[in-house]
Amino acid sequence: MHPNKQSVTELRPGIFQIRGLNGSSHSYVIKGKYLNVMIDSGSDQNFPVLEKGLFQIGLKVRDINLVISSHEHCDHIGANRYFQECAIIAAYRLAASKMIAGDYYVTMYKSNDLNEIPMRVHLWLENMMRIDLGNYSLRVFHTPGHTSGCISIIETTCGLLFSADSVFAGGTLSYIAESGSVGDYLDSLARLRCFDLQALYPGHGRISTTPMDDIDRAMANAQQILDGRAEGEPEIFYQKVAEN
Ligand SMILES: [Zn+2]
Repeated sequence: MHPNKQSVTELRPGIFQIRGLNGSSHSYVIKGKYLNVMIDSGSDQNFPVLEKGLFQIGLKVRDINLVISSHEHCDHIGANRYFQECAIIAAYRLAASKMIAGDYYVTMYKSNDLNEIPMRVHLWLENMMRIDLGNYSLRVFHTPGHTSGCISIIETTCGLLFSADSVFAGGTLSYIAESGSVGDYLDSLARLRCFDLQALYPGHGRISTTPMDDIDRAMANAQQILDGRAEGEPEIFYQKVAEN
């Protein structure tokens, strides 16, 4: 089976992708020397898939110490409810404020989840924060564009970009949600471009080993949207149905 289609893939030693199904985001689990971290829990409906994936890599829900939510959309945070009793839930402050306010209009956007448990965010992240796992080092980058509260995580020792919905393989962009902006998107991509990145691990679709090319194409796509030449064309905007 192609590695991109397996439900659980070890991408680097101790770094796993658990693929989300039916529109859920993927989850990435990093087995740290000090902490086990998960980037995005995926949708509530996808939780059985996630739980099975965790089991495959020898972890239970309570073994996850820190859940980093990339942004406030339900396909990325819907399963936080199963972790928030035991793990620290972290999100950028502009996502955290929407999550804890129960703003279902923005968090449930384009989702069928009916997650009505109040969301907790224990740790409100700021740009450039560093999370030291001993064997890996994660750095938080505020990358608004898709929404105002989006972050990307860069694992700095290996140059791994966990981009969530900010950039997908091939330079595909996500749609611009209510709090998003194409101008912010371009600025975020330009800042990610400054790092020597070796791999792109996005929130949906396939992974990529050519992240710099992907970001260049994403920037060109964003510029085309600003120029009004490419609005809504499928090769520019991520299409949920096609990717899953
Ligand atoms: Zn999103």
